[in-house]
Amino acid sequence: MKVIIVGAGFGGMSAAALLARDGFDVTVIEKNEQPGGRGSVYQEDGYTFDMGPSWYLMPDVYEQFFADFKKKPEDFFTLENLDPLYRIFYYDKEVYDISSDPEENYQLFESFEPGSGLKLQKYLESSRELYEFSVNEMLYKDYRSVLDLLSGKLLLKAPKLRLWENLDHYVNKQFESDQARKILEYAIGFLGGSPQNTPSFYHLVSHADLTLGVYYPRGGMREIVYAVRDLAESYGAKFIYNQRVELLEVHENRVKRVITDKAVYEPDLVVVNADYHHGEVDLLTPENRSYDENYWEKKILSPSAMVAYLGVNRRVEGLAHHNLFLERDWEDGFNAVFNPEIAVWPENPSYYVNVPSLTDDTAAPPGCDTLYILAPLAPGLEDTPQLREAFYQRIMDDLETKLNDNIRDDVVFKRLFALNDFQDRYNAYKGTAFGLTHTLDQTALFRPAHQSQKVKNLYYTGQYTHPGIGVPMTMVSSQMVAREIKEKYGRP
Ligand SMILES: Cc1cc2nc3c(=O)[nH]c(=O)nc-3n(C[C@H](O)[C@H](O)[C@H](O)COP(=O)(O)OP(=O)(O)OC[C@H]3O[C@@H](n4cnc5c(N)ncnc54)[C@H](O)[C@@H]3O)c2cc1C
Repeated sequence: MKVIIVGAGFGGMSAAALLARDGFDVTVIEKNEQPGGRGSVYQEDGYTFDMGPSWYLMPDVYEQFFADFKKKPEDFFTLENLDPLYRIFYYDKEVYDISSDPEENYQLFESFEPGSGLKLQKYLESSRELYEFSVNEMLYKDYRSVLDLLSGKLLLKAPKLRLWENLDHYVNKQFESDQARKILEYAIGFLGGSPQNTPSFYHLVSHADLTLGVYYPRGGMREIVYAVRDLAESYGAKFIYNQRVELLEVHENRVKRVITDKAVYEPDLVVVNADYHHGEVDLLTPENRSYDENYWEKKILSPSAMVAYLGVNRRVEGLAHHNLFLERDWEDGFNAVFNPEIAVWPENPSYYVNVPSLTDDTAAPPGCDTLYILAPLAPGLEDTPQLREAFYQRIMDDLETKLNDNIRDDVVFKRLFALNDFQDRYNAYKGTAFGLTHTLDQTALFRPAHQSQKVKNLYYTGQYTHPGIGVPMTMVSSQMVAREIKEKYGRP
C-alpha cells in the first residue's frame, strides 16, 4: 500500500518510520531542502543553528518512541544532563540558576519567601501526579468522541484536573513572591500558551523541566532529526526534498492523486504533516474540508516569534546554555502576544537566549559563541525589516545592559527569522511558530482530528493535533495515526 506523507517535520518523519516499519510503501514529500521542519538546521560562517527546538524535555516520551523500534535514544545520540537546567535573569538585577538538584531549587524558592520551598515541593508532587496520569492515561489515547473523555479513570481524576481554573490563578494562590510565580508560569511557554489561557492542570509541565530534567543531545537537536529520518530510511521510507505539494485531488471521498510542483503521485493513503490549516484550506477544495476558514478564524493560535541567530567572534560571559529573561511588564507582555486587539511588537519583551556552543564544540568556531535569541510575538502581526530590526535592537540593549557587555560590536553573523519566514518556509497559518494553544477547548478531543471527516484515506499528524505542541508530543501524534492506519488497513 502506497502512502504519501506531506512534510518531513518530526510528525512526518516519525509517521514515515512507523508506517514503513509496518510494511507500508512510504514516500515523504518535503517542500524545503532538508528534513526536520521547524527543527531545521542553518549553517553560516562556521556557526550552526538548530533553527527551532532547543529544549530536550520529556525524555521518557522519546524513550517510548524509540522503544517502538526496539531502540533507545542512546543508539542514535548521547544525551548530556544540563546543570543548571537554566538561568533566570529577573528584571534588572537578580540572576538565579535553576538546578538539576531539587533541594537547591527548594532553597532558592525559600529565599524568595519563607515556606516557599515546601510549597514548591508540593507543587511538583502535584505536577508529577498529573504528568504521570497524563502520560499513562491521556497522551497516547486518541479522542474521537465525548464518550472517550468520559472514561472511568478520567472521570475519577476530574476534581484534581481543576478544569475551571487557569494556571495563573492556580500559581498565584499558592505563591506570594513574584519570582516564584514567574518561574513557574514561564514553563507554560513550552506549550505555546499563556498562564491566563491555559488550564491549571498543565502545571504538569513543571514536572518535565524541574524534575525530569533538561537534556542536550551532543551535536545538537538536529541529531534527533537525523535519528528519526535514518530510522524511517532503514525501513525503506523514501524522502523527496525541494518538492511542494499543491493539491490533494479527491474523487469519491478518497485522495486519488497528490499533485506537486514537479510530479503527480497516486497513493492509497495520505498523511499530512504540513500545518493543518494549510493541508485543509490550501490543498483541498472546499467540499472536501473538514474545517473551513471560519473554524480556523475562531481558534486561539500559539505565538509566532522572532528568532535572532547570531555568530559572535568571541565567548560571551555570564550566560548558561538556556537563559530566560523575565521582564517587568509580565501581563502586558502576554497581552501583546495573546490579545489580538492590542497585539504589538512589545516594548520590553521577555525573551530566551540559547548558547549551544557552551555545551557543544560543533556549534561555533573555536573560542566563539552561537547565540539564539527568541522572543514570542502575536501571530498575524505585520512583519517588516524595520520592525524586526527595531525589536532586535531593543532586545540587545537589554541583554547588553544585563551582561554589561557590548555584544553587538562582535556579532559577525546575524539572521532574523520572524512571522513572514514561518509563513514562507513552513506554510504556517498567520506565521504561528507552534500551531494551536492548549486552551481547554483546544485539548484532546477538541483539537483537529487525526482523520479527515470528509476524505476516507486522509490523515493528519503534527503539533496541531492531539496531544499537541513540542517535538515529543508530535511524535506521539504520529504513533496514534500509525496505530489507527494499522488497525484499519492491517499489515499491507
Ligand atoms: C522557534 C521554535 C522553538 C521551539 N522550541 C522547542 C523546544 O525547545 N522543544 C520542543 O520539544 N519543541 C519546540 N518547538 C516546537 C516543535 O519544534 C514543534 O512542535 C514540532 O517541531 C512541530 O513538528 P511538526 O511535524 O508538527 O511540524 P513542522 O516541523 O512544521 O513540519 C511540517 C513540514 O511540512 C512541510 N510542508 C509545509 N507545506 C508543505 C507542502 N505544501 N508540501 C510539502 N511540504 C510542506 C514544512 O516545510 C515542514 O517541514 C519549537 C518550535 C519553534 C518554531
